[in-house]
Amino acid sequence: MRDNLHLDSTVVAAGRPDPVAGAPLNTPIVPASSYHSGGERNYQREGSPTTDSFEAALGALEGGIALAYSAGTAAVSAMIATLAPGASAVVPASMYWGVVELFHAAADEGRLKLVPVELADTDAVLAALPGADLLWLESETNPMLTVPELGRLCAAARSAGVPSCVDSTFTTPLLLRPLELGATVVMHSATKFLAGHSDALLGALVTADDALAARLRADRYRVGSVPGVLESYLALRGMRTLAVRLDRQQANAAELADRLATHPAVRTVHYPGRVADPMHERWAAMASGPGMMISFELPDAAAADQFCERVELITHATSLGGVESLVERRARYTGEVTMGTPDGLIRFSVGIENLEDLWADIAQALG
Ligand SMILES: *Cc1c(COP(=O)(O)O)cnc(C)c1O
Repeated sequence: MRDNLHLDSTVVAAGRPDPVAGAPLNTPIVPASSYHSGGERNYQREGSPTTDSFEAALGALEGGIALAYSAGTAAVSAMIATLAPGASAVVPASMYWGVVELFHAAADEGRLKLVPVELADTDAVLAALPGADLLWLESETNPMLTVPELGRLCAAARSAGVPSCVDSTFTTPLLLRPLELGATVVMHSATKFLAGHSDALLGALVTADDALAARLRADRYRVGSVPGVLESYLALRGMRTLAVRLDRQQANAAELADRLATHPAVRTVHYPGRVADPMHERWAAMASGPGMMISFELPDAAAADQFCERVELITHATSLGGVESLVERRARYTGEVTMGTPDGLIRFSVGIENLEDLWADIAQALG
């Protein structure tokens, strides 16, 4: 493979078997827990050819060494496990609920000290860095779509000797490459946009730090948090079309965000790709597209619940990143309420359906 390709070519070409006559174009699903002795690989907890291919493709896209995990949360746990007892982690005050729960579980057991910060407030994050052992970031926060000044934060963390980890699930390497901005690690729930079809659960960490990658690989071997070979295959198979899926999802999202913003039933639209969004300038400075996620606020919980019940083409379900459009009212989870997620907030993962069909569905559901 040539090494000066654009990312939308790399996503198609990377992680394939060597191009020798008669070889398959795709790495097969290799269901083997054990391997004949004397080779490079002994046991599936070390990895598998199928997972290696997924990792090779993701590593090429992010510019680092990729390690796949059985879930996004398993990848987060692996990062937390690198911290010494009593370590201190700077975390966003509002972020993906499953990750909040992991950090809080570690803090409640006394293993970790948490320093919550408003991610939008760059000075507050910078002030929290001295003495920290980890800076956790989201490329845009879930579900409020707040945008941090990632470049400044990662660079400051690096010069303060604080490892930073960016959850880039909402952006994917096609919109943002955190390692280039100075992040130590990129984390993905590959369940979402990377795999893209709501049919596989897996996660990933990517780093250009060889020693950290070796440590994470050894830990993963001991713990056994590797993805299954079917999941690895589905994720790579799905990832081949990432560029065209994101093109369509972003075109739909940009237009729908504009239309939602003028609808009388909608109070506020959060979509940093929109010029009118307060986060737009930061977003445009770092992301190479407007984004696939929209959050919008209806007057109250009842209006938002009614919207979720009324949609027909769009599916009412949790999660995001698949080809199908999904909506949910995030504050139906009590944890979200404690994080300050507005009662009437709808998180909308925009799919690849026809734009006018999506809008017709939204318009009828808003009433
Ligand atoms: C889904 C998600 C996770 C957790 O990943 P799983 O694959 O569900 O374990 C972490 N961060 C973000 C931003 C997510 O959307």
